[in-house]
Amino acid sequence: MGSGAAYHLAVRGEPILLLDQFAPGHDRGSSHGLARITRHAYADLAYAERMLDAFRAWREFEAEAGETVYFRTGGVTLCPDQVDYVERIATNLDTLGVPFTHLSPAALQRAYPAFQVSADHEAVFEPDAGLLAASRIVALQVELARHHGALVRTGCRVDRIDLETTHPTLVAGSERIAARRLIVTAGAWVSTLFPALASTLTPTRQQVLYFAPADRSAVSIGRLPVWIYQGRETGEAFYGMPDFLGSGAKAARHSGPVCDPNRPNPVVAASYIADIRRFLAGVLPILAEAPLCHAEVCLYTNAPDDQFMIGPLPGRPDVIVASPCSGHGFKFSNLIGRMLADLAMTGQSDTRLGRGLNVASRLD
Ligand SMILES: Cc1cc2nc3c(=O)[nH]c(=O)nc-3n(C[C@H](O)[C@H](O)[C@H](O)COP(=O)(O)OP(=O)(O)OC[C@H]3O[C@@H](n4cnc5c(N)ncnc54)[C@H](O)[C@@H]3O)c2cc1C
Repeated sequence: MGSGAAYHLAVRGEPILLLDQFAPGHDRGSSHGLARITRHAYADLAYAERMLDAFRAWREFEAEAGETVYFRTGGVTLCPDQVDYVERIATNLDTLGVPFTHLSPAALQRAYPAFQVSADHEAVFEPDAGLLAASRIVALQVELARHHGALVRTGCRVDRIDLETTHPTLVAGSERIAARRLIVTAGAWVSTLFPALASTLTPTRQQVLYFAPADRSAVSIGRLPVWIYQGRETGEAFYGMPDFLGSGAKAARHSGPVCDPNRPNPVVAASYIADIRRFLAGVLPILAEAPLCHAEVCLYTNAPDDQFMIGPLPGRPDVIVASPCSGHGFKFSNLIGRMLADLAMTGQSDTRLGRGLNVASRLD
């Protein structure tokens, strides 16, 4: 989100300092890894609608970068037929005029033989869903921001933000950096900078697995779309994607335990791997027994109702705070970069997304 905002501000000729405690591509936050899913297939109409703008933003970004970052794979959303998730998505896609088709489990298996789900499931297929080259996008946004004049500092950890001065001031060790406008996109660390947000924003630890079946081509782009499965319970949500750039086919659970971003634990639990294999046996059996070729840990920052929180601190139009995650923010990140640039420069934006910040502007 920070690199997206820096990119949009730098392109507009604004003087920018982009600052991070680590270097781009680091694996301690939320944006690392080769790819993220993108789709219009949302059960929440407001987010589905904004995806029309988000897809346009990626096309514009690709033209500027001279590089492809969106890979069209098609996407399948599945749920047991007692759950209304697929139905709500189909209604929203229909409302927005986004192409989609309903697939019975048998039709899904004919189209994509890797899927074998029982007859009591529903599925919807969105041909335009696909992958975004996540780490590459962050690197490109930083590179282009720099090209347009942004200063980039890495390895600089902000200890606190001083709002008692005329301009918001970052305090990093003995250094103080005053900004005319400040955009805070601190991911899972946002509430260490704004403790008032701690009761609203919850970092969770997510574990991600990559499988390499003997027939690797059976899970390549074209033969396996990106996929999302919503079970009967909220925590019974899973997702995955085809083999991208030799990564193996990804599969993960869309929930995880609350964590402290300052106490990283890179070890993926054997019990988690067993849970994912058990789930895959009933949906994508080709992956259930396949060797694991890679595993990684990543953080979500969850807001109530899976919303994004973006806006100025109350009474402080010069401090914009953005927590657009809840486990689904990446696909919006270039659009949100533009929104943050608008908010910082003019106090308003044509892009409306998520909720504002309903917290005191004090830090404690
Ligand atoms: C496993 C996983 C799968 C996902 N899948 C998808 C998907 O398929 N589709 C999708 O759209 N989204 C997906 N998401 C969500 C998406 O990746 C995130 O919403 C998005 O990356 C959040 O970006 P961010 O900029 O808010 O956070 P981050 O990328 O973590 O950036 C925050 C940055 O702030 C820096 N920082 C924090 N505190 C300080 C400080 N005090 N001083 C200096 N720097 C600081 C951090 O070092 C970090 O670099 C997924 C997330 C995960 C973890």
